[in-house]
Amino acid sequence: MVDVRKVYQEHQALLEGHFLLSSGNHSKYYLQSARVLENPKVAEQLATALASEIRQSNINIDLVCSPALGGLLIGYELARALGVRFIFAERKDGKMEIRRGFSISKGENVLICEDIITTGGSALEVADEVEKLGGNVVGFSALANRGFCSRVGSDIAPKESCKLPKDKPLFALDDFIFEIYSPEKCPLCAEGDKPIKPGSRGN
Ligand code: ZN
Repeated sequence: MVDVRKVYQEHQALLEGHFLLSSGNHSKYYLQSARVLENPKVAEQLATALASEIRQSNINIDLVCSPALGGLLIGYELARALGVRFIFAERKDGKMEIRRGFSISKGENVLICEDIITTGGSALEVADEVEKLGGNVVGFSALANRGFCSRVGSDIAPKESCKLPKDKPLFALDDFIFEIYSPEKCPLCAEGDKPIKPGSRGN
């Protein structure tokens, strides 16, 4: 079994500071999956571990679909490990769309893959697009679960804010649980510090 937390630490991908998340909330930590996945061998090891966990559930998967950009690298590696094809969805004018001539045959079984699942908002948008094209969403997957949703093999209960459907499995290698704060309640802001947007200023 791969220790995904250790892998993130070894690649300086578990950042500590004061971060503005895409949800608008603030956090002391940020997971920069791109730093882990820049090493193809590491990406392969993680995807192989995730694929073997998914296989244990005996669900049929015809293809993997990820939201760009965050889910692309791990989704592609996971599809390779599962021996299925890979497509992606991307945002156009704020709306998630499956473009580039990708198609899904009616009833094909689709696994959604993200790098990290927080509340699962983007993953759910991708699932809706897949279903509009006739695909059958069989589950969700990610390298790590931020603890808002419940993953297969962990006894953490889902929080109210989890957007993923309760009747579909979420597969992930570990839970990464840390607090997030609304800007008004952020203790770092209260100390006068300003949050930075991950991906800017060299992080
Ligand atoms: Zn703050």
